Amino acid sequence: MDNKALHKLSYGLFVLTAPDDGNGPGTYSGCIINTAIQGASDPLTMTICVNKANHTHDCIKASSKFNVSVLSEAADFGLFQHFGFQSGKDVDKFAGFSDCKLAGNQLPYITRGTNAYFSCWVTETVDLGSHTLFVATITDMEVLSDVPSTTYVYYLQNIKPKPEAPAAAAGKTVWRCTICGYIYEGDPIPDDFICPLCKHPASDFEKVTI
Ligand code: FE
Repeated sequence: MDNKALHKLSYGLFVLTAPDDGNGPGTYSGCIINTAIQGASDPLTMTICVNKANHTHDCIKASSKFNVSVLSEAADFGLFQHFGFQSGKDVDKFAGFSDCKLAGNQLPYITRGTNAYFSCWVTETVDLGSHTLFVATITDMEVLSDVPSTTYVYYLQNIKPKPEAPAAAAGKTVWRCTICGYIYEGDPIPDDFICPLCKHPASDFEKVTI
């Protein structure tokens, strides 16, 4: 079985937001996901899969509501770093973050580098092991811009900076996360290694010489 087949699936990219009531009222959690799809047209249904390691996962479990902001080709790498490369368990990603507005469901949606948002109410959850599948009714949605939605491939080719090899480390063999670019120094990479940035497993790492 060739796990690289999974890399042939196409994905969009989204900022997922939810209330973080554990940190007090009016605080929010957010992360990047690539798994938002329209599940049905009647009733209007959104499905998302969220890694259980994400703080936002627990926030949705607790509140049953979330917003999905659709990232466009105008999204900058800083937006991915802000929502994807740090954990809501450690930082409040909305403290001082002004590129958002509150939707009718009192949850923020992202106004920078996005082209639409959806407000959703969870009706069903399915435990998928590493992830939870949330099935939700779309309670509101708006178009924010006409810039095309980014795909994961567009992100890799045009938004994510190309890794630069540090001169002092030239010739060193490392494992690079094919999802986010994180470098694991050492060889071999442990089978149970989980990328600290994007939470993907060791099977998503490739051996490279830098
Ligand atoms: Fe990663």
